[in-house]
Amino acid sequence: MNESLENPIRSLLSPGTPELEPVEKIEYVLQPWTVQKSYPGPSWCGIERIHLALASVVKTLAVEVPIGNPWYKYKSSNRSDMDGKDWRLVVPTNPAIAINFHSLLHDKRWTVVTTIYRSKDIDLAKVSKVVSHPDPWIRSMLWTIRLAKELETQGYDYKPALDSMVKRLELVNYLRQTKNCMEPDVIEAAKKFGAIGAGRGELPPITIALNSWRTGKLRNASYEKPANGRDFGIITIDSEMMSSIEYMQEIVRHELVHAVLNENCRNNTHGPTFQNIAKEIGLTREYRE
Ligand SMILES: [Zn+2]
Repeated sequence: MNESLENPIRSLLSPGTPELEPVEKIEYVLQPWTVQKSYPGPSWCGIERIHLALASVVKTLAVEVPIGNPWYKYKSSNRSDMDGKDWRLVVPTNPAIAINFHSLLHDKRWTVVTTIYRSKDIDLAKVSKVVSHPDPWIRSMLWTIRLAKELETQGYDYKPALDSMVKRLELVNYLRQTKNCMEPDVIEAAKKFGAIGAGRGELPPITIALNSWRTGKLRNASYEKPANGRDFGIITIDSEMMSSIEYMQEIVRHELVHAVLNENCRNNTHGPTFQNIAKEIGLTREYRE
C-alpha cells in the first residue's frame, strides 16, 4: 500500500475512533488516485492496481460505462485512435457509492483521476450484474475483466489484455489450492522451531496476486502482512515468472514462511529460523534466499 496512506488510516483506525463509513474507507484506499496519476505503458496495470486497493475495503460492485458515450476524441488530437474515456464502478450500498474514472491517453501514457461520491440518484435496479468473490485479488481481477469486456463493446480491442488476465486467474486458482495444502506444514514447522508463541499459531487470510507490474527492485515476489485496515496478507508474484508452475509454487512456499514469521514473531529475514522452517517444509537451497 502507498506509504502516504499509512498515517491517516492508522490514526483513524486507532482505538476509540468511530468505525469509518464505507465511502470514507473507499476515499482512503483510493487517495492516490483522487489526484492526477500517470502511468507509462499498458493502462491495465494501473487499473488492476486501483481495483486491488479497492478490494481491501469493497467486496461487491458493478461496472458501468456511459450510455452512447463514445471514446473521447478532440479535433486537434493527432492520435490515430482516441483520447480517453469515463466509466464508473457502483458499490450497491444504500445510497449507492459511485467511483467515477476519468481516463486519458497521451504520448503512450495513461492518466486517471477518480471521483468518489455517495448518491441517491443511482437506481440499483438498473445497475447491471454485480461482481464479487471471497478472495480479494480474484475479485479485483473479475472487476478488471468485466470493465475490459464492457469497454470492448464500445469499440476497442482488449483481447491481449483479457487473455493475460484470464490466464493469471487460472494460475492463481491453482496456486491458491496448493497454498491451502502447504499452510498446515508451515505452521507445524514454525511450532517445531519455536517461531510461534503462546496463543498464536494461525496464518491470516492470504491472497495471491499475479501481477503484470513489478513487485519491487530486483524482486520477483513479496509478502505484505495485513495492515492499514486491510485484514488479509498479500503474496505478490511478478507475472514474468509465470512460465513455470513449479517455480511459482516454491515462491508461494517461500513467502508462506515469511507470512508465518511475520504473523507470530515479526521476523522478516532469511536468518536461522527462516532457514530451519524452510528446510523442514522441503524448500531447496535455491528457494531459501
Ligand atoms: Zn524471502
